Amino acid sequence: MDFSTHAAPLPSPQRNATRRLAFAVGVLFIAGVITAVGALFSIATRLDDDDVNDNLFYSTRALENRILASKNYITSYAYWTTAYEHLSAQVDTNWAYVEQNLGKTLFTSDGYDGVFVLNREQTKYAVVRGQLVEANISGFLKASATALVDQVQLQSDLTKPVSTYSLFEDWPALVTAAAIIPNDERPTEEPRNTSVLVFVDKLTPAKLRKIGSGFGLNNLTLAPDETIEAGQPRVPLDSTGYSLVADLERPGQQLLWSLLPTLGSILLILMLLTGYFFRHALRSSQYVDNSFEAMQTSHRAMQAANQALEASEERFRAVAEAASDWIWEIDRHLSLTYLSARFSTVTGYPREQWLGQDIMQLLSCDTTPLELWLKKLNEEVNASDLRCTYRDETGQQRYCRLSARPIVESHSIVGYRGTASDITDEVAAHAQIQHLSMHDALTGLPNRNKLARYLEEALQLKEHAAPLSLLMIDLDNFKPINDSLGHPAGDAVLQEVARRLRECTRDHDIVARLGGDEFVVVLSGMDSHQEIDRFCTRLIGSLHEPVMFEHHPLHIGASIGITLSRRHGFEAAELIRCADIALYQAKSEGKNTWCYFEAHMSDQIQTRRQMEDDLRKALKDNELVLHYQPRYKVDGKEIVSVEALVRWQHPTKGLLGPDLFIPLAEQTDLIVPLGRWVLREACQTALTWPAEILLSVNLSPAQFALSDVVQDVREVLVETRFPGSRLELEITENVMLNDTDGALTTMNALKELGVRLNMDDFGTGYSSLGYLRAYPFDGIKIDKRFIASISTGSNDRAVVQAIIGLGKAMGLNVTAEGVETEEQLAILGKDQCNEVQGYFMSRPIDKMAFARFLQTSKRSGAVNHRSNTARS
Ligand code: C2E
Ligand code: MG
Ligand code: MG
Repeated sequence: MDFSTHAAPLPSPQRNATRRLAFAVGVLFIAGVITAVGALFSIATRLDDDDVNDNLFYSTRALENRILASKNYITSYAYWTTAYEHLSAQVDTNWAYVEQNLGKTLFTSDGYDGVFVLNREQTKYAVVRGQLVEANISGFLKASATALVDQVQLQSDLTKPVSTYSLFEDWPALVTAAAIIPNDERPTEEPRNTSVLVFVDKLTPAKLRKIGSGFGLNNLTLAPDETIEAGQPRVPLDSTGYSLVADLERPGQQLLWSLLPTLGSILLILMLLTGYFFRHALRSSQYVDNSFEAMQTSHRAMQAANQALEASEERFRAVAEAASDWIWEIDRHLSLTYLSARFSTVTGYPREQWLGQDIMQLLSCDTTPLELWLKKLNEEVNASDLRCTYRDETGQQRYCRLSARPIVESHSIVGYRGTASDITDEVAAHAQIQHLSMHDALTGLPNRNKLARYLEEALQLKEHAAPLSLLMIDLDNFKPINDSLGHPAGDAVLQEVARRLRECTRDHDIVARLGGDEFVVVLSGMDSHQEIDRFCTRLIGSLHEPVMFEHHPLHIGASIGITLSRRHGFEAAELIRCADIALYQAKSEGKNTWCYFEAHMSDQIQTRRQMEDDLRKALKDNELVLHYQPRYKVDGKEIVSVEALVRWQHPTKGLLGPDLFIPLAEQTDLIVPLGRWVLREACQTALTWPAEILLSVNLSPAQFALSDVVQDVREVLVETRFPGSRLELEITENVMLNDTDGALTTMNALKELGVRLNMDDFGTGYSSLGYLRAYPFDGIKIDKRFIASISTGSNDRAVVQAIIGLGKAMGLNVTAEGVETEEQLAILGKDQCNEVQGYFMSRPIDKMAFARFLQTSKRSGAVNHRSNTARS
């Protein structure tokens, strides 16, 4: 299913639509409510307005009615001939009041508060509240009586009454006036002469209520103008300052008051219901939205998953094509159904050639049949990979590592798929590592591991096995070659030695290199001394032949230690150990020789080994000390030089002389650090001595062979700042014997450092005066053996004399060592030896003692050679 087609934007959420709808309905609802309420208010206002108009209309009508009634009523009295006769001239009070024509009843039954008859000049008749009073109308009425009379008399029709309002006894009253005229045919009188009848109708609240009720007016009453609210309808009573008012019914407000609470409640309920409805709608839409969002989210997740799947497929393709592995699939019959593109690249076969073929025809495994392994996959979760072989298209055998997983469909296995990693190179590398771990990389010979394995196998049968002879060979003079000419030379020598060793041995013998310049030859089926001696002679002869390196002959030799399985046991390690001891012995017996292991060697060598270890430790722990022995001019007084002589302050054996450990140090490499230490220590000490005293240090021939003496001396001089000119090196002639050319070069280089060279122990070795000529010596020391016997009258004095003579002739400084007696000193003086050294003048003494000795010598003015300190 392709989900990517669904990637178009989805419709906007339901919730938003619901919100918009809710908003629209809300607005409509509010608009409806506002309109309805507006209409209601407008109706109410109109009703109220109508009420006001009606109120005003009926108030006016009520008043007009009263006026009209009053006018009619007064007309019935004034336009009446009888009344005219009794009232127009003199008022007939009897007729009027007593006979009640115009008397009390007008008040009691008709409600007129004042009844007056008046003319322009006077008030002729006055009845107030039914009582006849003798008073002027103006005492009661505020309006002008004259003006009232004028108003009546000035009318065109005198029969018509007039009405006005005025305060009567300070209360508004309806005042109606009419001219008293006869209603018969007699000629009309001059209007100005007529009397005027005035009825005053005081508008009392009771009267007004009565009038009002007739017109449906509520509480019709009078109120002072200033107290009336604006908007209150009123009928003003002219200049009285009062107006007629009636209570308004306010039907609009009544309507509102009666409707609003109900309407409000209904609206509120409606609003709540609407709110609830919208809330519900929103919730529903929210739910729809959530579902929608969830749908979108899951849609997005599906999209992402789809993309991840595509990426994964892409990655798989890339990996499948880029990896060195190829991918395969087989059906349940083990026929190949899929092979990745890499298959062709790795194997060279076109894929089509193998699709449909049995995988077992392609791959095979010599340890586990492929079919079985696949079956096991079903049972084991973590089945390991299988190493298979196959032939590629060119026919070459290749290796691959097969991994597989079952393909499961509907709970049953329908096939397998997996990868095949080409491990041909890995297998080859492994084989090479295997070879390297058993062979020496430089010479290609078996190494210690292989030797041990061979010996173990060969010695397993013990007595029944063929006798084995193990020869351990160590090269002589290899180290100097390696050190001085560098590793290429060393390597060339080792390779040549390996070649010669193989040349000398038979096929079933083993030649191995243990490391460094140590080789082992195992001779099989040969263990008579005679045979072995012959073999060793041949071997040493062969190795003695110079090795050519860059056109230079390099000389080496060999020492051999031998063990025999039948005599020394059938333990491989033991055989090697014993051969090593024998080799040690051979070396200490002098080089280029061989030695059979014997039981006693073990102890000797053990002791020497112990000593060697002790000496190594002594160097580290500073157990070595230097003693100093001065050398004098032949007069025996002046110190020329001081010789440093090493001793070992052994923790258990006490102070050991150099003879006990120098040879051991020379046989091992220990002489190198020892020699350096002596040189440094001596130079540092000599710096504290007077500057004219020289320092003599002994150098061993082994130092020449094992290290770069020139470099050592230079370093110490630089380090200690001891002047080279004060240093004298004592060398025995053995140096020249070992390596004639090399020694000369070294000595010349030493001379270039400014140091002096003395030949020590002259006369003991194969001393030849020829050396003296060829080498850059500054002096010779005649060995103490000759001195010891010069005073005995032997031949030795002649030898000494000859040496002195020769030495001097060659410009050399001649010293006699081992001077023990005064006599010897005297003879040497006589024989004109240059310098002397010996117990007679001073024994070797330690650093502190020598410092004190120097002090004493200084105090005595010259070097006191007879110093007691020195002799003790
Ligand atoms: P050497 O260089 O010939 O030193 C002289 C030896 O003769 C010293 O023995 C010294 O103590 C001893 N001697 C001095 N005067 C007399 C005397 O009047 N009578 C007798 N009988 N002996 C006397 P020492 O100290 O035992 O040294 C022995 C040898 O050890 C030295 O012989 C030297 O070859 C070697 N040696 C000593 N110190 C060193 C050293 O630091 N390095 C090396 N390579 N060899 C050393
Ligand atoms: Mg010496
Ligand atoms: Mg000496």
